Amino acid sequence: MAAGMRPLIRLRDVWKVYHLGDVEVRALRGVSLDIRAGELLGIIGASGSGKSTCMNLIGCLDQPTRGTYRLGDVDVSTLSVNERAAIRSRRIGFVFQNFNLLGRSTALENVALPMIYANVPFAEQRRRARELLAAVGLHGREEHMPSQLSGGQQQRVAIARALANGPSLLLADEPTGNLDTQSSTEIMDLFLRLRRERRLTIIVVTHEPHIAYYAERVVTFRDGRIVSDVPQAPSSHATEAVRA
Ligand code: ADP
Ligand code: MG
Repeated sequence: MAAGMRPLIRLRDVWKVYHLGDVEVRALRGVSLDIRAGELLGIIGASGSGKSTCMNLIGCLDQPTRGTYRLGDVDVSTLSVNERAAIRSRRIGFVFQNFNLLGRSTALENVALPMIYANVPFAEQRRRARELLAAVGLHGREEHMPSQLSGGQQQRVAIARALANGPSLLLADEPTGNLDTQSSTEIMDLFLRLRRERRLTIIVVTHEPHIAYYAERVVTFRDGRIVSDVPQAPSSHATEAVRA
């Protein structure tokens, strides 16, 4: 395989075993997965099948019990906690089902937050946060509190926040789980557009078939293993996917 074709993400025989007292929970049982830069990958599977565990490993929030994980040129399985934190803040954005916004902070402040930790100068924080809010369709809502925004709008703020430090990888764990169908569709359209405009690699965990439909490739987990990994034909309503 040519060097330029190396996958961005490479998991090899990855196991994750949790210990709860005397009980061993084998959350991942030998997962191998390659993901190319620029892919929009869907991950589906029943509750408890290991989807979030796998996302946490890919997101450098946790380490495999066994097996290897390479992200770009880095062997993540050998890194310290601090080295993983540094990779997370520079390269990875996270989006969650519950948005996880600070309720007493404005949309703009929520988006600026990761830039504070990255020591971005204040004026630059504000400028970039405004630009990101506009990019997710929230121009004019900068001073709104989360409680003044709809669920779909709150998730847009969370997506803008995830992009604050210019990551190349966006991980979304059930991002539409708390949204109605219309808002869910808009969020997936937004992911497709951001992938194209910002050259992102995006992984979306979902249990909703109409959401998985947006991905060009869908991986199915069952009992800690990948049981299928299939490309999908571009769909007619995921119009951006057709053009990409
Ligand atoms: P999914 O996201 O597909 O619902 P998870 O990855 O959250 O599945 O969980 C996979 C399995 O690992 C489940 O049996 C779950 O109970 C277990 N598990 C997940 N996280 C932990 C943890 N921190 N400690 C112990 N068991 C866990
Ligand atoms: Mg989960």
